[in-house]
Amino acid sequence: MINREAYRFFCETAGGRVGFQAVCAAALARAEATLQAEIDLGLARILWELDEDPDLSWCDKRDLANFSSGRWEMLCCRVERRCLACNAWRVVECLGGIVVDVQARPRDTYPRVVEAELALTVDWHAAC
Ligand SMILES: [Zn+2]
Repeated sequence: MINREAYRFFCETAGGRVGFQAVCAAALARAEATLQAEIDLGLARILWELDEDPDLSWCDKRDLANFSSGRWEMLCCRVERRCLACNAWRVVECLGGIVVDVQARPRDTYPRVVEAELALTVDWHAAC
């Protein structure tokens, strides 16, 4: 079962892959649902933190000013799973270098895409 709202959302936002949008959107919607189910069971969590080791090499003066003024943040998103055997949280997917416009964050669709993209690559059956 694919959630219609999620499917439509990912069709509109996963724009980087022309021609694969429908396939990608369905896969992302499914991955998001799986991730949410794991979170609801207390077996997974998503953590957004400041990127500890940001790569600013691509930035020009204006970009750097956006970071130093706090207008932009560079974040890292981690997906963690809880091991049923030892209860430890373990990072299963991680992506850094995610630039977020702080003021636009509440309506920013990118974090949701990132979370689904990461969820897509998690092997939910792998043991700790
Ligand atoms: Zn374990």
